[in-house]
Amino acid sequence: MASEIHNFLTSSGRRGTAASQVDAAQCVGCDTCSAMCPFGAITLVDRPESAPRPAEVKDDGKLAVIDAQSCRACGICAANCPEVAIAHNLSDDALFGRIALMTEGVEKPVVGFYCKECAGAAIGLSGQHRDRYPENVRLIELPCLGRVSALHIVEAARLGAAGVFLAGCAEGRCQYRTGDTSALEQMTIAGEVLADSSTPLPLELWHLCAVDRLSVGRRIRMFHAKAIGDELTPALLEHEMGLIGAGAGALSGAPTGAVCGGGEVCGCGR
Ligand code: SF4
Ligand code: SF4
Repeated sequence: MASEIHNFLTSSGRRGTAASQVDAAQCVGCDTCSAMCPFGAITLVDRPESAPRPAEVKDDGKLAVIDAQSCRACGICAANCPEVAIAHNLSDDALFGRIALMTEGVEKPVVGFYCKECAGAAIGLSGQHRDRYPENVRLIELPCLGRVSALHIVEAARLGAAGVFLAGCAEGRCQYRTGDTSALEQMTIAGEVLADSSTPLPLELWHLCAVDRLSVGRRIRMFHAKAIGDELTPALLEHEMGLIGAGAGALSGAPTGAVCGGGEVCGCGR
């Protein structure tokens, strides 16, 4: 509970961005979004007679409604709505466009979606320390890792990605409470879809703290090598893994990452 309260108080929240909105013409009242929203911002109400509705929804069908005051704009609901009925301020069209732009003309792109909170801080700090990773690595920032859906991952694969990684906050420290678990579910769905279509590719989810700045480049380099099929020699593994420390699961495909580093660098106050 203390962690929950802390996350709530320290989360950067919406920063003036618009709350998410439900398109009544697409919502079938399945209740997925209200169950997923970590801030209790969504309720299902009796559908007003005047509201548009999908053909399959009956007169007594429910409609999801988002309380704009409670919504923190994490995008978890938009990523999980099976009808793609929720508009987030970072729209699916914008995200698809960003994926296309970032991968266009790139040979074997390796795509990384990352949250702009802890993972963003780690990546930014690693850049300041001039840590390097291969040129065909393409990073796409999200407000919260929970904004990523299986559709985005599959789209990256369709556009030729050799591998996709997701990077969020340190374990148990998601600034939006459950963005990492939502992303893991979406990554699993994407993995199944890609396997079913005989186009599997490496997918990983990492938990990063800003103090991971010294290891994030190494994580990316190791994932990149695996994705494009470079041999991970025992000597390279020993070198990189020794430096990563807590990232020992990075080659297994399991969620990996360090615990929160204590806020000494990022100033999160933990
Ligand atoms: S998840 Fe989508 S379709 Fe289901 S209730 Fe929410 S907005 Fe409607
Ligand atoms: S964007 Fe996040 S906080 Fe807002 S309604 Fe959706 S899940 Fe809840």
